[in-house]
Amino acid sequence: MTSIAFIGLGNMGNPMAANLVKAGHAVSGFDLIEANLATARRNGVAVAASAADAVAGADVVITMLPAGRHVIAVYEDVVPKARKGTLFIDSSTVDVDSARKAHKIAADAGMLSIDAPVSGGTGGAEAGTLTFMAGGSKEAFAQAEPVLEPMAGRVVHCGDGGAGQAAKICNNMILGISMIGVGEAFVLAEKLGLSHQALFDVASTSSGQCWSLTTYCPVPGPVPTSPANRDYQPGFAAALMLKDLKLAQEAAQSSGAVTPLGAEAAQLYGLFSAMGKGDTDFSGIIHMLRGDAK
Ligand code: NAD
Repeated sequence: MTSIAFIGLGNMGNPMAANLVKAGHAVSGFDLIEANLATARRNGVAVAASAADAVAGADVVITMLPAGRHVIAVYEDVVPKARKGTLFIDSSTVDVDSARKAHKIAADAGMLSIDAPVSGGTGGAEAGTLTFMAGGSKEAFAQAEPVLEPMAGRVVHCGDGGAGQAAKICNNMILGISMIGVGEAFVLAEKLGLSHQALFDVASTSSGQCWSLTTYCPVPGPVPTSPANRDYQPGFAAALMLKDLKLAQEAAQSSGAVTPLGAEAAQLYGLFSAMGKGDTDFSGIIHMLRGDAK
């Protein structure tokens, strides 16, 4: 049994913490929202009065927070108060620069840390099948891997500090671009009188094949489990896709990478969100491409 502090018990953090409790760990937790604390209590998390109280005596601290500024603020607060040898795991999706800053705060206090953002959404968090993309030293990763296991389908060590966040935004940039590409192809097919199923049958076994088509098809019918079959309820909300595409653009600018399609995808998801569609599934962008988003 490991003593784990979990800071940030929102849509992702609460089910993740619940899986750690189920695996037999002692989990203390903190969040700013009372309703989230009540859910955590019901799941067997020992709710603390503050983040600092939650980390007191913990072997491992996991954060699952909205953005880089929240992670830095929490690290600045709790790292100095944690006991020596505490392992810090940040699973939030944040910009690479903030991830590196968080590693530095931990390292300056003599603590091991990894950035370990996830893919798999709230469904994966509940089922304990998230993919973790980890960045940090081999020693930190070796300590973190068994802690992540009850929440994970897969854990990949991507490299040094920040490499997990880098992998996450590169993957999601591919996803955003490919979803727009697949959506455009279906819209063109409609104009040409080609049925959705015919395009799917050809492209899913041809060179146009990709996850956005075969697992997450943006039109109803060909893939019964895709959000298109439930009126584009997320799934993965367009606002979160926009967040990740913006992080990819920040990283492209600070590293000097040229990503014109990533930039275009960020613009298109920005437009879709500005139309009030941020909380619909990101595959719903096909409505905007078709010109029928209301
Ligand atoms: P959320 O808003 O539901 O949860 C974040 C929680 O952090 C909130 O409950 C908030 O009160 C809490 N918080 C903020 N500042 C705090 C502080 N100082 N101390 C304690 N708690 C604090 O968001 P979420 O959907 O759980 O996402 C969390 C992270 O996971 C984000 O970085 C997101 O991009 C990433 N992510 C989300 C999904 C998804 O499908 N929801 C998928 C992959 C990754």
